[in-house]
Amino acid sequence: MRMSEELKRCPFCGSPAELIRGDDDYCAECSNDKCRADRPGWWTKEEAIRVWNTRPRESRLAEENAKLRELLAGWKTFWLRHSDGDEHALALLERTREALGEK
Ligand SMILES: [Zn+2]
Repeated sequence: MRMSEELKRCPFCGSPAELIRGDDDYCAECSNDKCRADRPGWWTKEEAIRVWNTRPRESRLAEENAKLRELLAGWKTFWLRHSDGDEHALALLERTREALGEK
């Protein structure tokens, strides 16, 4: 269904979300029967999508991660210049990259 492609996945279980149609309004809901998370209320289609997709904490974390990745790139440059191949420093760098989801 094309409409669900506009919805982010469920923040709790990661399942696809779907729009439930009321009489002439909509509600977004998780499609996983064991979860069925939703945002209370009925909305226009556009509002239901916007409300479901609004994730202030996710957005803030994404911004923080982007800043940390930028700092990490700076540290990598620094360490590669100054660590003299120190294996501990390089291992720490690799573990930090993994923690930030970089491969
Ligand atoms: Zn869910």
